[in-house]
Amino acid sequence: MKLLISSCLLGEDVRYDGGNSSIAMGASFTFSQKELFMDILCDNEIYSFCPEVSGGLTTPREPAELVSSNKPFKVLTKEQNDVTINFLLGAKNALDLCQNEDIKVALLKSKSPSCGNEKIYDGNFNGTLVEGKGLTARLLEENGVVVFNETQLKEFNKFIKTNS
Ligand code: SF4
Repeated sequence: MKLLISSCLLGEDVRYDGGNSSIAMGASFTFSQKELFMDILCDNEIYSFCPEVSGGLTTPREPAELVSSNKPFKVLTKEQNDVTINFLLGAKNALDLCQNEDIKVALLKSKSPSCGNEKIYDGNFNGTLVEGKGLTARLLEENGVVVFNETQLKEFNKFIKTNS
């Protein structure tokens, strides 16, 4: 099955701070989670994607948060630079990829203003999480792509098995 996966979860150094959020190498994942993730990678066709890089932002880059998570969306960096258009472009590019390649499911990084599918930071840069979705996760879900995050590997795997 074709799977869209956040590049940072695959170990690519595309995070705002120049690092990654590798599941395979991350200390916060158990061996069985890593094993499951590696099985998923080996058994499926993987499309690595980073919306923020695709949207034209550099790595490393200033941290950004969603200041308005409903239309009109607004994404500002910590220094108050407006990067909304980059985030929207990245989301659109992710959707184009899914539609062009018939990708129906994605594993995206939690809590990101682009990739988060359940919670995001509240726009005040003080570490407070609120219910909400990143712009890419939202656009994909609105268009029928099912989105999981890295804490939902079992559910992600179950979806793959059921729909392959
Ligand atoms: S935009 Fe998504 S894929 Fe890119 S670094 Fe942030 S969480 Fe990872």
